Amino acid sequence: MTRIDAGTSQFQSWGRYPRVEQTVVTRDWRDEPLPIVEGSLLPRGLGRSYGDSCLNEGNTLIATRGMNRLIGFDAATGIVRCESGVTLDELLEHSVPRGWFPPVTPGTRFVTIGGAVANDVHGKNHHACGSFGNFVRELELVRSNGSRRICSAEREPELFAATIGGLGLTGIIDWVEFQMKPIRNRSIDVETIRMGGLDEFFALSSESERDFEYLVAWIDTVGSPGRGLFMRGNHNHTGGTAAAKAGKPLLAVPFDLPEIALSRFTIGTFNTLFYHKQWSRVARATVDYIPFFYPLDALLDWNRMYGASGLLQWQCLVPFEGGPEAIREILGEAGKSGQASFLTVLKTMGHVPSLGMMSFPKPGITLALDFARRDAVENLLQRLDKIVAEAGGRLYPAKDARMPAAYFRQFYPRWEEFSRYIDPKFSSSFWRRVTAK
Ligand SMILES: Cc1cc2nc3c(=O)[nH]c(=O)nc-3n(C[C@H](O)[C@H](O)[C@H](O)COP(=O)(O)OP(=O)(O)OC[C@H]3O[C@@H](n4cnc5c(N)ncnc54)[C@H](O)[C@@H]3O)c2cc1C
Repeated sequence: MTRIDAGTSQFQSWGRYPRVEQTVVTRDWRDEPLPIVEGSLLPRGLGRSYGDSCLNEGNTLIATRGMNRLIGFDAATGIVRCESGVTLDELLEHSVPRGWFPPVTPGTRFVTIGGAVANDVHGKNHHACGSFGNFVRELELVRSNGSRRICSAEREPELFAATIGGLGLTGIIDWVEFQMKPIRNRSIDVETIRMGGLDEFFALSSESERDFEYLVAWIDTVGSPGRGLFMRGNHNHTGGTAAAKAGKPLLAVPFDLPEIALSRFTIGTFNTLFYHKQWSRVARATVDYIPFFYPLDALLDWNRMYGASGLLQWQCLVPFEGGPEAIREILGEAGKSGQASFLTVLKTMGHVPSLGMMSFPKPGITLALDFARRDAVENLLQRLDKIVAEAGGRLYPAKDARMPAAYFRQFYPRWEEFSRYIDPKFSSSFWRRVTAK
């Protein structure tokens, strides 16, 4: 039975900006018809998108979390079919003991499979195998006219390509069938390498791409911009001992911290300590997959550290050609601005083409910055947007609450073609903003 919740507070996005009023309807069963409402509908997973792509101001969200059943899991082939509200966390609990791992995972396991498809999420292995959509075999979409559409690369291929990375606008994804990857145990062999600057990052990336499945770098934007820690890892292939099972997160941020908590000074101090956390230039370890893939999940509600005004994430992708210069310019601007990004992540994306018309991933270099939201940050981000646009790059809608409409259309030239597949009853705060005249 569909329930309508008047409360809106728990349905903010992860960045807690913008804050909007919306009606929330839950969808727990696949045979429920879509609700008949005034205004538009938008599916909603776990709200781990940072900006307004998971918000529908003045309209209705359909919360899919109750659709959390595994429909089929073939332990011989690793093919899974599950409802779209299943989370990666739930899937991992089931699949890891059976020797299977999600083909692609973002930096948190608290996302739904529907959300992973709708943003065509990427992980530390993009250079090796592409994004989540590359592993989707088939999915079922429910449209507001009551039709059910099974889509795959062969069946309704245009609707399939529009739905992967389709920002929840083509209908409700009820279930997804996708291919998992085999693992021997739950451990990751990881090397952490201290790097002095961007030249080392680019050298380490190209040197590591062939032999390491997972690559990512953490960058300091305050102390000595570009220095950081480069991490490269592979699933451990020894048949035997798995690392001890990591516990559930224990700590939570109980209230909004004051702005001073994440000042340039505190972030600079943290960065310096983090950079020097290991004595040697290269540290090798075999670790459980949870701290390797999901270090932030250890602190529940960490988004509250950024204070009551919320946080802005900004993630760009610039092509390889001219990309290193653009990344240097962006870090230079960020350094000069006096604004400090707490978590700055840099990685390369590979050449496996994304299946989605609106997918973010492309070959190039991606950089993610995050800031407590304030006016001076907006001024900085406007300058950074311009550098990205001039470099022929793009910004990631899942992380966005502010990109100008003109840039969106430049970054995603297939947006008009995509519009033809949007369900006429579906919309989002993000879509109205970036397509406004
Ligand atoms: C700490 C952290 C780390 C992250 N790291 C990465 C990363 O490394 N790579 C990356 O790509 N992203 C990353 N993200 C972003 C996150 O992976 C995406 O925003 C993801 O889509 C969130 O999934 P969700 O279930 O929370 O969906 P929501 O945020 O609730 O929704 C996301 C989109 O999916 C649509 N949607 C949800 N369910 C359905 C459905 N059943 N049918 C149709 N559409 C649906 C919504 O309408 C919306 O457009 C990160 C986020 C956090 C908080």
